[in-house]
Amino acid sequence: MAAVNEMEMDKECESRRAVNRDNMAARRQSGTEEEVERHRLRDWQRKVSARQETSSKVPWTFNFALNYLPNRRYQDNPLFATGRVKVICSFCDAYRWPGEPQEICCSNG
Ligand SMILES: [Zn+2]
Repeated sequence: MAAVNEMEMDKECESRRAVNRDNMAARRQSGTEEEVERHRLRDWQRKVSARQETSSKVPWTFNFALNYLPNRRYQDNPLFATGRVKVICSFCDAYRWPGEPQEICCSNG
């Protein structure tokens, strides 16, 4: 029964969308150039705000390599700050960052 109701709702929804689409197309064709331009601008603003809404839900580091912003100071962010190379291996004299395991260079000799 629920599936039948769902199918009815889908049909109603589809027919409503078709009517809306036809009405909008007719309205746009009858409009002046200024109105058409205003509609285009509104559509563009709607798309931009939808994109911003979507992008605000994911962390700013998501897909980070593809979205590098040259004006952002990454070195101030603890996620990216690696600090200075301070540790020297007593076996092989390799430089390591603090927090790197001792075995990373020569497995302790
Ligand atoms: Zn070493």
